[in-house]
Parts: sequence; structure tokens; C-alpha cells
Amino acid sequence: MLNRLDLVMTRSIIAISPDSNIIKAVKLMQDNKISCIIVVSNNSPVGIVTERDIVNIVANGENFEKPVSEIMSQPLISAGPKTLLNRALNIMRTNHIRRLPVIENETLVGLVTETNLLVASRRTMIAMEQKHQKTKNLAMEDKITGLYNRRYFQSVMKKELNRARRYGALLSLILIDIDHFKKINDTFGHSVGDAVLKKLSKIFRDSARKVDIVFRYGGDEFAIVCPISGTRSSRIFAERLIKTIEKKPVIHNGTKLAVTISVGICKYTSMSSSIEKMVKRADKALYRAKQNGRNQVCVAERVTSENPQVLMRG
Ligand code: GH3
Ligand code: MG
Repeated sequence: MLNRLDLVMTRSIIAISPDSNIIKAVKLMQDNKISCIIVVSNNSPVGIVTERDIVNIVANGENFEKPVSEIMSQPLISAGPKTLLNRALNIMRTNHIRRLPVIENETLVGLVTETNLLVASRRTMIAMEQKHQKTKNLAMEDKITGLYNRRYFQSVMKKELNRARRYGALLSLILIDIDHFKKINDTFGHSVGDAVLKKLSKIFRDSARKVDIVFRYGGDEFAIVCPISGTRSSRIFAERLIKTIEKKPVIHNGTKLAVTISVGICKYTSMSSSIEKMVKRADKALYRAKQNGRNQVCVAERVTSENPQVLMRG
């Protein structure tokens, strides 16, 4: 973390001796495109000349032949290389200065400007934020597939349901379960089963629109939350998934694995407006897809005020 002056300071500093004249100081500042120059005597920094000092000389019509020792700011306010950024900023603010020479064992070792400090603290803040985000992402992620996990599903659904409720927006939920997945594990082993989970996850993620969010819902179950989608477009999407899986089979030791999925879909309605109700309806549709012979999509029956028992039926 960039929290100490020696990690952010400029090390190449232009210095001048106290008996050099102001013209030399101005020339050095111009040639090196710097806004201040440190005055060093016998290797020890003794003062600083800034652009502001030069402007004052010009404004007062003073003699440029004068040695810099006569115009430099003294005593030199400085800090040590291990000084923390916050402390350095405090020193600058309290003393109304914008540059701080860094001194170690009475020798000038660097210079920091207020801009250096602000840029460094901003970088530190960004690094902390990224670290925080990474930890957060790990908590939301399923380790095998890299998809979002079920815990995050709950929080996404809560937000999306609120949005659908408030703005009357479309929202549908797709539940997917791999067909006869136990058989794949039993026949080829657990690691091949894992490879199938990964391959399907990639297909789901690559096929989904940017607004859709794909989750590993459980063992061989996946959920896709599709905002701005009704059942018609979700069904088209799910049927495309089935076709893509058929076109991109998992090959194990030269053998094409027979992997298919069953899909249940439901859309948000004011009659089924909780996470539990939507999951229950999508799950029932998925169960029907399994019953009807698997490798297919079923859409949940519509829930209306005349037909609320759809939610109640087991
Ligand atoms: P169905 O068509 O009825 O869904 O049959 P199925 O065999 O897929 O049955 P079910 O969905 O109940 O089985 C899920 C299997 O998924 C059971 C479990 O051994 C397997 N499984 C769950 N998690 C993992 C995992 O992380 N890796 C692997 N390889 N297998 C898993
Ligand atoms: Mg299954």
C-alpha cells in the first residue's frame, strides 16, 4: 500500500547552492520544468525557492543578481521518508505549503508535492476498494463453475422483483436441471461430471444477454434471471440453449457424452411476486419437463386471480 512518503516521493531533485543567484535558479526551474528548487549547503537542505518567490521578485522589481539565500523560505519544513501520507498532508495544510522536502540523516532524499500525495491516496483507496470487491465476489461465486451462487441469487431476485413491482417491468426466471447427471458421474467419474458442469456453465453464460444473470443454483441445477423478458423470449432462449448443448457435446476419451437439460420457466406476475413463489412455479414447470421425457422446456401455468390455485397445487 502506498502509505509512506518514501513510496511516493520524487527522488530526482534539482538543488542549488545558497550563493547561486536567482537567474540560475529560474533557469534551472525552466530547464527542468519544475516549480521549486531546494537550496542545499554542505549536503544539507537549508531552504526552498518556489515559483511564487520568483513572481514576488519580478513584481517588486528586485535585483535578479541576488543570491537565492536572500529570498529562500526558511526554516525548511520537511518530513522523514517513513512519514505517513496523512501526516504529510497535515503538515502541508497547517503550514500552507504545497511541497515537502523529504530528509533523512540531514540529507535531502526526495520531494513530495500535494498532488503526489493526493494521487497516491487515491490509488490506495482504489486498491482497497478492489480488494473489498474481490472478497465480495468470492462470497458470491460458485467455486467449480465460476458462476454466481445461490446466496447471490436471493439478493438479485429481491432487487429484480422490486424493480418489476415498482415499474411493472417484465421479469422471468429460468430453472435448468441436467438430465440423468448421476449416470454421468457413475459412469465416467466425478471429475468428468465437474467438466460437464463447467462446460454447460460456459454455454449458459456465453448465450445469455448482458442483462441476464446466470447462477449455479444447486448440484446440477442452474438458474437464469432474465429481466425485461417474458415467457415467450425466455422460452426461445432456453430452446436455443438445448440446441447449443447438442451442437457442442462434451467429449471424454473420444466418446461423445449424452448431455441434455430440462428447463422450467415462469414469469413475474402480481399474483406470484415473491422469490419463493417464482421458484416454486419454475420448479413445477421443470418437473413437468422431466415428466414429459426430459431434454425440453416447459413454461409455468399462468397465475391469474381466477386461477390462484396454480401456486397452491403441489
Ligand atoms: P434427473 O434427470 O431426474 O435430474 O436425474 P439426475 O441423475 O440428474 O438426478 P439429480 O438431478 O437428482 O442428481 C443430481 C446429481 O448431481 C447428484 C449428485 O451426485 C450430482 N452432483 C451434485 N453436485 C455435483 C458436483 O459438484 N459435481 C459433480 N460431479 N456432481 C455433482
Ligand atoms: Mg439432474
